[in-house]
Amino acid sequence: MSLQSFITGLPKAELHVHHVGSASPRIVSELAARHPDAGVPSDLDGLKQFFTFRDFAHFIEVYLAVVGLIRTPEDIRLLTYEVAREMAEGQNLRYAELTCTPYTSVLAGIAIEGYTEAIEDARVAAERDFGLVLRWIYDIPGESGIPAADATLEYALRHRTDALVGFGLGGPETGVPRAQFREHFDRARAAGLHSVPHAGETTGPETIWESLRLLGAERIGHGVSAARDPELLAHLAETGVVLEVCPTSNIATRAVDRIEDHPLRTFVDAGVAVTINSDDPPMFATTLSQDYEVAADLLGLDEAGVADLARAAVAASYAPDDVKARIGAEIDAYAAADRRVPGDTP
Ligand SMILES: [Zn+2]
Repeated sequence: MSLQSFITGLPKAELHVHHVGSASPRIVSELAARHPDAGVPSDLDGLKQFFTFRDFAHFIEVYLAVVGLIRTPEDIRLLTYEVAREMAEGQNLRYAELTCTPYTSVLAGIAIEGYTEAIEDARVAAERDFGLVLRWIYDIPGESGIPAADATLEYALRHRTDALVGFGLGGPETGVPRAQFREHFDRARAAGLHSVPHAGETTGPETIWESLRLLGAERIGHGVSAARDPELLAHLAETGVVLEVCPTSNIATRAVDRIEDHPLRTFVDAGVAVTINSDDPPMFATTLSQDYEVAADLLGLDEAGVADLARAAVAASYAPDDVKARIGAEIDAYAAADRRVPGDTP
């Protein structure tokens, strides 16, 4: 079996992947057909062209076009269920923490009650139909400031579902000081939600320090710039704060210039816990499996090494203990079965 096929079939968990950002051309074509007035092409070939990654500005254009197609709870349900299908079928994701931005959908006219019901419906159906366990992270779109933070906290606390495990912060980092969200994270954490902000993707290590000190970050989305601060690397290693590394995304957004310059190796060498993730996979022309391949290449991993990456994601997840144990056992069984196939490695 090639490393590529091993990775495809490997039972995997993903911790940093955005809800709307996971809409594939196939899913967008279904949404576009439901809302022909939006002017988004519904033919698959046209959409695949539209999705072809050009630069960050074009990514934002695609992202906003998809946002404009999500107008009703049924759109949310369809998006979530179909994203789950694509995670499970063809990639063997067994668990995912999907980062949702309810603020954007409520702004588009969907009541939070309808939103919550739709994602929960899709979650239950995805577990039943695809065996994929989903959990939610609600993130504040940082560029929308305090009103978005207030609303997101309210959705998290007053409209909470049991499947909500984390509270995040996304959007641009420049000009969006972390300190302004301190109280929101305090209250979310007091309610038992895990703190998982994006930090150090496009700004320096000081944003990661602030996220640790002010927001109580337990995992950091991206954390690319941690590589420039040995003291921070040592601190992350010592405290066990996990970096959610998204290699393909980092190249697409130019957080890192070239893949050979990606700091993943530096993190691992420093003893920092890392997980591999795909962020907004169809929009960055990637999949979780492809990002595992990139990581395997950067780290020089064989099958046993990538199985360890999968185990690390399960360990860093906020899945219930029985789900963690079950997926861990699936990974062990899969890796053991691979070892029994003689002389078939590339
Ligand atoms: Zn992200």
